[in-house]
Amino acid sequence: MSGAAFALVVNTSLALLVAAAFLALSRSAEAPGVRWFGASYAIGAGTPLSELLVRLSPTPPIFVFSSFAMFSLAFHVMAAGLARYYHVPLSRWLLPASFVGSLLGRVLLWQAPRGVLWYELLYQLPFTIALLICTAILAVGAPPRLLDRLLTGAFGLAALHFLAKPFISVLVGSGATARDYVESRYALISQSMTAIVLIAVALSLILVVVTDMMETSRRQADRDELSGLPNRRAFDRDAALLLAKSQNQNRACRVLMFDLDLFKAINDTHGHDVGDQVIRAFAAALSDAAPRESAMGRIGGEEFAMLFADAGPETTAACIETIRRRFGGIVFASREGTFRATFSCGVARSLPGESLHDVMVRCDRALYRAKAEGRDRVADAG
Ligand code: GH3
Ligand code: MG
Ligand code: MG
Repeated sequence: MSGAAFALVVNTSLALLVAAAFLALSRSAEAPGVRWFGASYAIGAGTPLSELLVRLSPTPPIFVFSSFAMFSLAFHVMAAGLARYYHVPLSRWLLPASFVGSLLGRVLLWQAPRGVLWYELLYQLPFTIALLICTAILAVGAPPRLLDRLLTGAFGLAALHFLAKPFISVLVGSGATARDYVESRYALISQSMTAIVLIAVALSLILVVVTDMMETSRRQADRDELSGLPNRRAFDRDAALLLAKSQNQNRACRVLMFDLDLFKAINDTHGHDVGDQVIRAFAAALSDAAPRESAMGRIGGEEFAMLFADAGPETTAACIETIRRRFGGIVFASREGTFRATFSCGVARSLPGESLHDVMVRCDRALYRAKAEGRDRVADAG
């Protein structure tokens, strides 16, 4: 087997392996487009395969055409996948027009003499255009993260490398016919260059997809489904960090614990769904009232907590008052009638060096006192 044919076999295998990796990822990735990335590489595997068949088949022209068509289709499918993944709206006609235009161009070039610069430039141009569309989609839609910048760079490099190929082909010589090309040194250089660039694209894209998957699952693990607030685990972590930061600056923190009043009776009278509505409404009021740098969360069924750097009792009172106005103003309704809900609140100020656990215990005792004193009120542990 010649070196060029060997490179073609290697490239077919690499493209299929990348396709399999994306298809496997698409089973767990929630983001749209990942299957399209796999399809792009699977289709692209048809190009080196076609070039091998140019050599082996009795009907080379079919494979000369399919080698080009599959490469062009692969890049256009990639662009469609990226537009989906990054939610970038594209004109419905852009990719079909660019793909059909590339095929027409190839047909027009069919009888042209190979090996001259203008022929090679026109041959590679559609690939550059499709990959520049991919680069533009990323430039518009990707977040300003290092990984996404790396991916944008990889696509830009891939687009440019197709423009470099014509000059190399004229320098090295790409053969007078398609069959000569497969045996040429240029084919070996061209196949290896493209493989490296497209593997760089695949690796960057896989890194982006996996990082996004981890980020999504981390966010889901931290979030309470019903209220949309951070859950107990996330609150404990965020609050401990904020407390440590404040203590390093010799500042105290305020901890607030909230418990909805007679919530069991709300459930029993108006139904669990209405109870859920009340929880969501309280969470929204809490979020609205939270100071800019604060930790908060739903730490139990109808229990919530908030922690922020102490800025004096007035700030704390104002925060609780905002919640009371927002939440207390809501009239809930069910078949059993309408009602307003109330909450009780415990407040504690962290002592120097006190752990989150200890200040929460004091705050919980204050909350218990607010309940014992008649509910719908605030008790301060000091
Ligand atoms: P208190 O004023 O003393 O706090 O009385 P309470 O009825 O609010 O307290 P209790 O602890 O007896 O009841 C809390 C209720 O919260 C019991 C439980 O069924 C309900 N609950 C817990 N999680 C949820 C939830 O996600 N949705 C709904 N609708 N109810 C919940
Ligand atoms: Mg409770
Ligand atoms: Mg309660």
